Amino acid sequence: MSVPPRLIDPFQREITYLRVSVTDRCDFRCVYCMAEHMEFLPKAELLTLEELDRLCSAFVGLGVQKLRITGGEPLVRKGIMTFFRGMARHLESGALRELTLTTNGSQLERFAAELFDCGVRRVNVSLDTLDAAKFKAITRWGRFEQVMRGIEAAAAAGLAIKINAVALRGVNCDEIHDFVAWCGARGFDLTFIEVMPMGDLGEEDRLDQYYSLEALRADLETRWTLTDTQERTGGPARYVRVAETGGRIGFITPLSHNFCESCNRVRLTCTGQLYMCLGQEDDADLRRVLRSHPGEDAPLIEAIRAAIARKPKGHDFDYSRQEVAGQMSRHMSHTGG
Ligand code: SAM
Ligand code: SF4
Repeated sequence: MSVPPRLIDPFQREITYLRVSVTDRCDFRCVYCMAEHMEFLPKAELLTLEELDRLCSAFVGLGVQKLRITGGEPLVRKGIMTFFRGMARHLESGALRELTLTTNGSQLERFAAELFDCGVRRVNVSLDTLDAAKFKAITRWGRFEQVMRGIEAAAAAGLAIKINAVALRGVNCDEIHDFVAWCGARGFDLTFIEVMPMGDLGEEDRLDQYYSLEALRADLETRWTLTDTQERTGGPARYVRVAETGGRIGFITPLSHNFCESCNRVRLTCTGQLYMCLGQEDDADLRRVLRSHPGEDAPLIEAIRAAIARKPKGHDFDYSRQEVAGQMSRHMSHTGG
């Protein structure tokens, strides 16, 4: 019997999770993610939908079992449902276990049912506040009501929902109890994320915005009974159960607790660069390989294997000296958060 091909990095971690940014564009301009007047990439730089399919299929063939589609805002990419339809074949064959996405929710009202039809069963919706005015201040261009309708449509379509909230000091830390109650009442999972030193810091200084999730958890425990669990969803979050709601809360703590040792994932940018680590500059240009070998997958597979062989042990983000160390100039919207 032949052994299925697998991607194993130099630290014996098996790579089974690929995050793919399908566009750098977005209909929001969140303050911690994008400048208001972002310059986007010329369209020709982006992978076409066919190239995205070819690349993702190559990864699935090499043992990737979980595909998370992100961006920018993945649902503003023209024709993106064609891509989801294409990936559905890997779910049907059993090669892919999960096809999912991270979205700002603005287009879910339009696409939720179709996503479900393509085999998507869970979505992560980024939502940092339950207050419409604050929502406007954080996202600049977002419309709160539209996102609420999107979330409702996703739930109605049968999609499990996880709300991702970036903890921003002085912005949404007074709402964390409301978030737990709101998600608990609706059966949504909730994950808090530490703000990371990505993009151009400029006027929005990440160190000012940084709120440690240890402090956030201590605050939650003044009101809720939290029990640690060993549950994992294949991502970097650590989970607790909330006794009062029965709900689940995740914490993604790249800064206060480094989670690299169990990293099973790599990221593909919308221009076909493979980043082996979110926090390191090294990348592999898979677009060049794709475009110079149309219709021939062997060089692509070789390039993917060579890239995985360079996956570093971990990132160097560190706020502990009250300065932002290990900062990355890349925007999250390019790499795919
Ligand atoms: N547009 C989609 C969305 O907002 O969900 C997908 C892309 S967005 C870049 C993915 C996630 O990255 C979002 O949850 C967002 O809050 C998070 N993000 C963006 N910039 C970040 C930063 N500097 N630190 C931590 N999380 C960040
Ligand atoms: Fe757009 Fe998501 Fe970045 Fe906000 S976090 S600007 S929604 S890509």
